Amino acid sequence: MLVVMKAHATEEQVRAVCERIESFGYRAHPIPGAQRTAIGITGNKGPMEPGSLEEMTGVQDVIYVTKPYKLVSRDVKEEDTVVSFPGSDGSFGSRDLGIVAGPCSIESREQAFIVAERVARAGARFFRGGAYKPRTSPYAFQGLGEEGLKIMADIRDRFGLRIITEAIDNESLDLVAEYADVIQIGARNMQNFSLLKKAGRMRKPVMLKRGMSATLEEFLMAAEYILSEGNYQVILCERGVRTFADHTRNTLDLSIVPAVQRLSHLPIVVDPSHGTGKRNKVLPLSLAAVAVGADGLMVEVHHDPDHALSDGAQSIFPDQFDELMAEIRQIAAILHRNVQEPPRIEPAAAKAGG
Ligand code: PEP
Ligand code: MN
Repeated sequence: MLVVMKAHATEEQVRAVCERIESFGYRAHPIPGAQRTAIGITGNKGPMEPGSLEEMTGVQDVIYVTKPYKLVSRDVKEEDTVVSFPGSDGSFGSRDLGIVAGPCSIESREQAFIVAERVARAGARFFRGGAYKPRTSPYAFQGLGEEGLKIMADIRDRFGLRIITEAIDNESLDLVAEYADVIQIGARNMQNFSLLKKAGRMRKPVMLKRGMSATLEEFLMAAEYILSEGNYQVILCERGVRTFADHTRNTLDLSIVPAVQRLSHLPIVVDPSHGTGKRNKVLPLSLAAVAVGADGLMVEVHHDPDHALSDGAQSIFPDQFDELMAEIRQIAAILHRNVQEPPRIEPAAAKAGG
């Protein structure tokens, strides 16, 4: 259920409604909007008796939400959610596209700094890199762990990039939340409900990747888990799904972008790297993703992909990333979106990576 407050309802009136909802043993989620505040109610097993809420001062309407997802829905919040970061002009869901780039895995300080410098100089505001890697084989490189997180924190200090990295389980989540600006939850964990709930209790934005065979509803319900715990800073990421097609690693489902945007206020970005698995498909699918209205991109970039410890075949070279940025800038402009210009990066005082 959803309580819609009047446009001029006071903070005290909103608080009183929340207290009433919680006195019934439910959870209240006040979500301020441009016109009015809506209060989502979760924790109720079935419809709640609306009478006592309808009568309260400042209440405009009490609505039954028939969709299974509530807090992620545009019924609760009509305008787009913008996820922004203190001290940075990077964001997701605004007119500016959120561009995330970096290697699949953090392999060494040198590797990470070389790639970070190039993506920062091209204008990306977010740096990605796995410190904990969910690998199909237990014998494959599993990531540098905390050392990788420290390298990324140094990259933030050096280049001003905000850091996105994956938590693969409840144990790694605490450490990831300590270092990262955005906690990534990977495709393999999209329905790891205990991880989703724990991420929902963090006060850091979460990037949730679509599961390999997840429907739109399952994807939104996974996001709902995070919001239901009180974390409303969620960015969705389409990264391709499994189909019979074998010319690509996954089938990048760009049609989910407008579908999500119709139903949900959450920003959605596209990952054409995992979405195709092939370096030569990353540029065309990035252009298509921006054209379809995605709120940003997440792209794997490596300076020496032939020797990458993971996902070399889908990682583009830094020069290709420069080209990608130049091209998406043109597409974005047609759609009244914007790709930010590179900031000024001072030359390093000491040797790269310090
Ligand atoms: C990744 O982004 O490095 C990753 C492992 O992606 P996904 O969870 O989409 O496979
Ligand atoms: Mn990868």
